[in-house]
Amino acid sequence: MSFDLNSLLRPHIARLQPYTSARDEYSGTEGVFLDANENPFGSITDQDFNRYPDPYQAALKAEISKIKEVRPTQIFLGNGSDEAIDLLYRAFCNPGKDNVILLPPTYGMYEVSASINDVEIRKVPLTEDFQLQPEKILAKADRNSKILFICSPNNPSANKVKREDILYLLDNFKGLVVVDEAYIDFSDEPSFTTQLDDYPNLLVMQTFSKAWGLASLRLGMAFASEEIIRILNKIKPPYNISGLTQETVLTAIKNRNKVQTMIREILEEREFLQAELAKLPIIQKIHPSHANFLLVKIPNAGQVYDDLIEEKVIVRNRSKVLLCEDCLRITVGTRSENEAFLGALKGVVKLKN
Ligand SMILES: *Cc1c(COP(=O)(O)O)cnc(C)c1O
Repeated sequence: MSFDLNSLLRPHIARLQPYTSARDEYSGTEGVFLDANENPFGSITDQDFNRYPDPYQAALKAEISKIKEVRPTQIFLGNGSDEAIDLLYRAFCNPGKDNVILLPPTYGMYEVSASINDVEIRKVPLTEDFQLQPEKILAKADRNSKILFICSPNNPSANKVKREDILYLLDNFKGLVVVDEAYIDFSDEPSFTTQLDDYPNLLVMQTFSKAWGLASLRLGMAFASEEIIRILNKIKPPYNISGLTQETVLTAIKNRNKVQTMIREILEEREFLQAELAKLPIIQKIHPSHANFLLVKIPNAGQVYDDLIEEKVIVRNRSKVLLCEDCLRITVGTRSENEAFLGALKGVVKLKN
């Protein structure tokens, strides 16, 4: 497929001279560092934080490269996936002129970030079983459609999107195709990172916020061609990933066997929750899940949500979202959390009957 990245890029970004940080000009570790106006005495905390961190996170990318089987030059690291989403808008979408295609119901940040950047949103709903409508997506696109966001496994519907539909869109959509794989670790589906060399218009997002249990650190990954990654690096804030985050995630990667154990446990708990919910006649539907949450249909979901809060159990009310009428999204917790939820739910629905 012919794909011209430069014709997608906003012209002023193509011309931009990026900020060069002190650590860009000289990045050796030996020497007397009087280049960055840091405090030479160290920090008042247990650990020293007085030096600026590596702006391109080389050590961390080297490790991520090994576990994800991509080249370090194909990796962008952001302050959460949310930063990568925002940078994509800023790089490719001219406000008031370009548009992006969103497939509701899906992750809310694509729309919020579009609105912040004054970018037109074109929506093509998923089908009733939360699959793509590829022909409708292509029909909705024009020359100014710069990005198509596909989330698989999808939030809030929890299902995985058919791979052949994504491949078809990669072959036929003229802009960038973003595949958000925040929940890929809970699915049996292989990542689209294996297709990066086949599709110059593909960008895959993953995150340390879900399976890795590091939501508070804020570390999101984007995988794409070297050209796309270079653009994101050019416009990112120079020190977007803190030194503490870089070091802590390096440690997490060394201990990654424990992540596999946690994932297995979450999948077991998902089964448990699913089985227990299926025993309750009031539950109208439990959508199949490839993620660490369940989308569940229950009459008067909004009221059930409020009643659960009274019992100090907080789930996510998706009942007003397209195709999710009367649905609650329930994150899989520990066994005791899941039992607390089930107990509260049984109490709440009994009250009403
Ligand atoms: C949770 C989530 C993310 C993760 O965002 P971070 O900013 O990396 O925490 C990304 N995409 C989807 C669909 C999500 O549900």
